[in-house]
Amino acid sequence: MPEHHDVVVIGGGQAGLSMSWHLTGRGIDHLVLERDTIAHEWRDTRWDNFTLVTPNWQCVLPGYRYTGPDPHGFMPRDEVYAWVRGYADTFAPPVREHVAVTGLAVSPSGGFDLDTTCGPLHCDRAVVAVGGYHTPALPRFAERLPARIRQLTSAEYRSAAALPEGDVLVVGTGQSGAQIAEDLHLSGRRVHLAVGSAPRVARFYRGRDCVAWLQDMGHYDIPIEDQPGGLGKRENTNHYVTGRDGGRDIDLRRFACEGMALYGRMIGFSSGTGYFEPSLEKSLDAADAVAESIKDSIDAYIARAGIDAPVQSRYRPVWRPEREVTEIDVAAQGITSVIWSTGFRTDYRWLRVGVFDGEGHPCHNRGVTGTPGLYFLGLPWLHTWGSGRFAAIARDAKYLADRITVTVPETVTARAGFA
Ligand SMILES: Cc1cc2nc3c(=O)[nH]c(=O)nc-3n(C[C@H](O)[C@H](O)[C@H](O)COP(=O)(O)OP(=O)(O)OC[C@H]3O[C@@H](n4cnc5c(N)ncnc54)[C@H](O)[C@@H]3O)c2cc1C
Repeated sequence: MPEHHDVVVIGGGQAGLSMSWHLTGRGIDHLVLERDTIAHEWRDTRWDNFTLVTPNWQCVLPGYRYTGPDPHGFMPRDEVYAWVRGYADTFAPPVREHVAVTGLAVSPSGGFDLDTTCGPLHCDRAVVAVGGYHTPALPRFAERLPARIRQLTSAEYRSAAALPEGDVLVVGTGQSGAQIAEDLHLSGRRVHLAVGSAPRVARFYRGRDCVAWLQDMGHYDIPIEDQPGGLGKRENTNHYVTGRDGGRDIDLRRFACEGMALYGRMIGFSSGTGYFEPSLEKSLDAADAVAESIKDSIDAYIARAGIDAPVQSRYRPVWRPEREVTEIDVAAQGITSVIWSTGFRTDYRWLRVGVFDGEGHPCHNRGVTGTPGLYFLGLPWLHTWGSGRFAAIARDAKYLADRITVTVPETVTARAGFA
């Protein structure tokens, strides 16, 4: 008979640990399986100068919160990693590290059969907490770049110093691409940036971090179903902004004034030439429009609530492209590295249960799937904006733990100190 547990949690990041905290407190038998080590994504797939873009006060896990000296600051990479690891030290979760789940299927005898790198397991309930960023989504034309150009994904990029001498082409301006372009630019590298359709948000407005205003406005409590665009929001690119040096805007127009070369979306590469859509001006304008519309909503909230907040003048574009550059000779520009910041795909091939839609996304309601006993946690927009972030993982974990608890026999004994 394979080893059996009431619940198996797959993934030992902040989501898996949050679930384990609830199950531990409720005395529910469970096991967390982590293919690497606890919280390793924070250590292994972020660049050296990485900082959070969300303020430290939003770092809340069940029974644990940021209590450091800088609640309005943005933890750097190693501090985030240490903070999440420190969480595990507070309650000793039953984690088995270096064990990957390679298969999960509904068991003919009920519950789920798991194949793992340490042998088979059986459980009555399974919580999939494997994050939302599995495989970098590279355009196929990346294969056409000559071997002399060093190609990295955003998850592999560490620092300017680790790249060969020369200019760097960064493709994509989601949160990672915009911050990596900033990192390279600040280090003195000449950056060529292919600007996509990601929106941006101002860091501060009218005396506070925009995140603080949006929190007070209840913005982060709105479930995905009630958001404009509904479930389609799950596909949206995150707003770019930075937490670097205490936090500031990322204004790509300012970078252009300082020498960064901006292009529209990259659409191809052939015979030494990179091709771009003539979409730069449109993308810059659209990103600014989103940032200004967020300010509009903050203004409206301040007026409605009668809050005494300093008035702040609005953003004025400091640069406009004179013309759209749609092709560049990569060698002539001196480009020696390309950083692909073009997003991620999910990879659930190991999960052999019919809970996916035509695009391969799991179908669920707040993480509860149509297959009894199978749950997802930690996915971007699982329920609200903060579901795939620190901001709301505690709420989502409690919701699922409550549902799991009612299905577990009443023989369990809650542990003290897990309110
Ligand atoms: C570049 C970047 C910047 C971010 N910045 C912020 C920010 O500023 N603020 C914020 O709140 N959030 C941020 N996030 C989002 C989010 O907080 C992180 O992605 C976080 O790591 C998600 O935690 P998680 O536990 O859901 O997933 P992960 O941290 O990805 O953990 C999942 C775990 O599952 C394990 N695993 C996967 N498959 C298997 C398997 N088959 N068997 C066993 N184990 C498996 C993995 O090894 C991993 O440890 C950022 C994300 C990225 C990518």
